Amino acid sequence: MIAEQKGSTEAEDTLEDLGFDTLPINPETVCNEINSDDFNLIFEHKPFNSEAILGKAIGNEKGAVIYVNSNIPDKGRLNYTAAHEVGHACMHIMPSITQQSFNCGSKELTDQFNDPIEKEANGFASGLLMPKQLIKPLTDGDINWFNVKTIKDNCFTSLEASFRRMTSIYKEPAAMVIHKSGQFYRFVTSKSFEPYINRSPLSSEQKELCYDGLADNLSTDFETVDAIDWITPEFKGNKLEAIYSSSIALKNDFTYTILRYDDDCFEEME
Ligand SMILES: [Zn+2]
Repeated sequence: MIAEQKGSTEAEDTLEDLGFDTLPINPETVCNEINSDDFNLIFEHKPFNSEAILGKAIGNEKGAVIYVNSNIPDKGRLNYTAAHEVGHACMHIMPSITQQSFNCGSKELTDQFNDPIEKEANGFASGLLMPKQLIKPLTDGDINWFNVKTIKDNCFTSLEASFRRMTSIYKEPAAMVIHKSGQFYRFVTSKSFEPYINRSPLSSEQKELCYDGLADNLSTDFETVDAIDWITPEFKGNKLEAIYSSSIALKNDFTYTILRYDDDCFEEME
């Protein structure tokens, strides 16, 4: 998290130095502004055949070239990849502190990848596309689908990246659980979300609680459900009785669920 924080702060400082103050932030435009006689920065779209490479950054202290795979079908993922590579150029290549060549695939571009250099680039991507000062006025800070989608729509990011950005700014316990065709796929959590998440398929009851995630406006509502439906209730001497859930159905049979809890969800201890 520290590496990610460092990355997003660096991105926000860069935007401020360059005078970017409106959304959406376009990584290519940022590159054009950074490009100077001192550091030559070139941005190119390139159709890599393999999905294994989403983006590349290569250079030395005099300049760098960024390649982004133009075959990435989703605009949010494309933007995030581009911003991630700008992060390598600004944080790693320009100051010549590490290697000078980066090949980044889906592994490097997830928050689970445990390399501090990649974490910094991911933090940079989040901060560049969703700078704190510009996204704070967009929502009331409540982590719900309406607000996550509002950030996505204004910043041209993905729902997942927008959720992660909200949890890094508003530090309450929240998790996003992803199912594909009803089967557990993966999850992301905020730092303060402590219980262990079930890796079980969606029950028919859970499927019925899904909203249409492709609607223009998503819901701010949560269902109060039994904690055991989603997590292992006991952790650190506490026991959660209830948990708040909000699920949306998306294309390709994906289901995304936000889980949250507060003091009211804990069982009274004798
Ligand atoms: Zn990378």
